[in-house]
Amino acid sequence: MTAMKYRKTIIAGNWKMNKALAEAEALASEIKRELAEFREADVVLCPPFTALKAVGEVIGDTPIKLGAQNMHWESDGAYTGEISAAMLRDLYCHYVILGHSERRAYFRETDTIVNRKVKAALAANLVPIVCVGETLEEREGDETEAVVRRQVERSLQGLGGELGRVVVAYEPVWAIGTGKTATPEQAQDVHALIRSVLASLADDDTAGAMRIQYGGSVKPTNAADLFGQPDIDGGLIGGAALEARSFVDIVKAAK
Ligand code: PEP
Repeated sequence: MTAMKYRKTIIAGNWKMNKALAEAEALASEIKRELAEFREADVVLCPPFTALKAVGEVIGDTPIKLGAQNMHWESDGAYTGEISAAMLRDLYCHYVILGHSERRAYFRETDTIVNRKVKAALAANLVPIVCVGETLEEREGDETEAVVRRQVERSLQGLGGELGRVVVAYEPVWAIGTGKTATPEQAQDVHALIRSVLASLADDDTAGAMRIQYGGSVKPTNAADLFGQPDIDGGLIGGAALEARSFVDIVKAAK
């Protein structure tokens, strides 16, 4: 299903556990200066929880949107240290990254947990950016297809008509923060697979309209080749999102 691309590219910056308040405001201000008039792609900034309010105030009513990096699936209660979807909405978040490989690996998030979070995010009118991707061991063991298929099917099960609102991020774990990028062809193959799994969960039209980002050592020098692939609809950017120049150059490569 690699017919004409009519999906709007979406580039999100995942700042992870970086940028204290003043640094976050400064980075958001620089990005805003460069991208306030940019309409060719959707741009999302995902600072740490502590900087969401401040970054939201910096980007104001520009087209740049705010995203969080995680949330809990319950709406409230005795969950020390957790943040709910409604709390993110209070801060004018539009997006939330769910199931990032660092959360899966370091905080033992399973597909079942990710699925609960996706449902809670959608119920609160947040757009989930749901991450999937294989480890190096899995790729070398020829398990990429099975792993990615399983993650997509389980993380996105039972969403009914809401599935179409989800953004999927294919992030091969071996490419995250390592400087190793999947080749455009390697990434395209997995994106096409993901789109076919989405079609099996919904239908061809829904899957054809859904956006699938690539993430893993995207840089200004490789962004255009990756984003030019028929099933790659933008990027989830880690390291290169921590500096305004490289993030802005990646966004502009999305035209
Ligand atoms: C990420 O963690 O989502 C990511 C893609 O990181 P990097 O761009 O640094 O590989």
